[in-house]
Amino acid sequence: MKEIEIIPEREGQVQRKGNVSAPMACNKKSAAGSVSQRACVFCGSRVVLYPISDALHVVHGPIGCAAYTWDIRGSLSSGQQLHRNSFSTDLREMDVIYGGEKKLLLALRQLIARYKPKAAFIYSTCIVGVIGDDVEAVCRTMTAEAGIPVIPVHSEGFKGTKKDGYRAACEAVATLLGTGSTEDVKPHSVNILGDFNLAGETWIIKKYYERMGIQVVTCITGDAKIEDIRRAHGAKLNLVQCSGSMTHLAKMMEEKYGIPFKRVSYFGIEDMSAALYDTAKFFSNDPTIMQRAQDLVREEVGNIYPQLQAYREELQGKKAAIYVGGSFKAFSLVRALRLIGMQTAVVGSQTGGPDDYKQLAEICDEGTIIVDDSNPLELAKFVLEKDVDLFIGGVKERPIAYKLGVAFCDHNHERKEPLAGFVGMLNFAKEVYSSVMSPVWNFVPRRQPGRAHTGMPSAQEKSVSLEEKTP
Ligand code: SF4
Repeated sequence: MKEIEIIPEREGQVQRKGNVSAPMACNKKSAAGSVSQRACVFCGSRVVLYPISDALHVVHGPIGCAAYTWDIRGSLSSGQQLHRNSFSTDLREMDVIYGGEKKLLLALRQLIARYKPKAAFIYSTCIVGVIGDDVEAVCRTMTAEAGIPVIPVHSEGFKGTKKDGYRAACEAVATLLGTGSTEDVKPHSVNILGDFNLAGETWIIKKYYERMGIQVVTCITGDAKIEDIRRAHGAKLNLVQCSGSMTHLAKMMEEKYGIPFKRVSYFGIEDMSAALYDTAKFFSNDPTIMQRAQDLVREEVGNIYPQLQAYREELQGKKAAIYVGGSFKAFSLVRALRLIGMQTAVVGSQTGGPDDYKQLAEICDEGTIIVDDSNPLELAKFVLEKDVDLFIGGVKERPIAYKLGVAFCDHNHERKEPLAGFVGMLNFAKEVYSSVMSPVWNFVPRRQPGRAHTGMPSAQEKSVSLEEKTP
């Protein structure tokens, strides 16, 4: 298949390893009309904050903004399940004309009295930015009245990219820091930033640290409780897993409380082990921590390695496309796929920076397509051009893969299977194997001789389906 044409505004955002003359053009707004896979600012904030399970999350805007319910997401809580509910002020035409502040105040009074949350996050959406509701003033009134933090999240959808939503979420969380007691925080303690406890992944990672003798003060925001976030400033180190969303908070904590941070990833054997060793090195004043980390890695890798080898034999030479939110996860996935014998032919992210793409190019094979802020048409064409056997992405990439007849692995917030940690690597290999090796892919159009499938029906297919529908 011939290489596709990229719209001119996006040319600098697509690279082919081995044929690159300039750094990736990234960290910019999506080209108008390109139908980016990115979500809006509000969505970015919500993704980060919603896992705080004992807080009230109120979407101040039209009901449509709250329509993509949280309930399909895999973020688990060990306590309250308040985060499972989506509350909206359901702004209508009259509210747009006369303002929605009164409605928000009444909604908050009612919700706080009924659910007794430990805090409330109020998300501003596009229309709130347009009509100029003073959400801060409403939050101040409710904080004084209810005696809990009622925190505005400045997430008007139109004011930037999903990344700006992450930033707004970090600033909202930062208002809670430093307000709790750090008395019971131990000298060897960390916060995990940017893990969302999908399918219980935070619990797996937390156990590893506990086995090493390290206390996890809180995870922001997987299975997070307001009281724990309030004392997070007592931890000695911040471990940033989703760097796209949480680096801003880590930097704020470094500046204000002197807490250093490290970027880590819990996906794949190499990165999971490196995360534990890096943490142990930080606490080098206690050599038993490194010893425990080594024992843990040896035991966990020993448990899964023989099974991974078996999958590797079957999957050797298969090709994958990866399109994820943050670039750091993409690095781990490239390495994890290589471990099970697979090659990455296409890789991209919604929010990567220039250094991320440089690093990505370093670990990918020659000819790999690397893409920033892509769209369904580009992704479909790249998948077909490289004839991949697997697409790894999220809820918005799934239909692209299935329409093209390509196996799919969900590595986003909807997943119900833990893919982090050593056990997660084994789950990942199992999922990839069962998806890629399914015999169903032998019968899809792109595998039929003479039927190169583009994802769209051919003229012949169209006329057949029209004839079928004609009485
Ligand atoms: S905040 Fe704006 S862009 Fe985001 S869902 Fe609502 S209307 Fe759409």
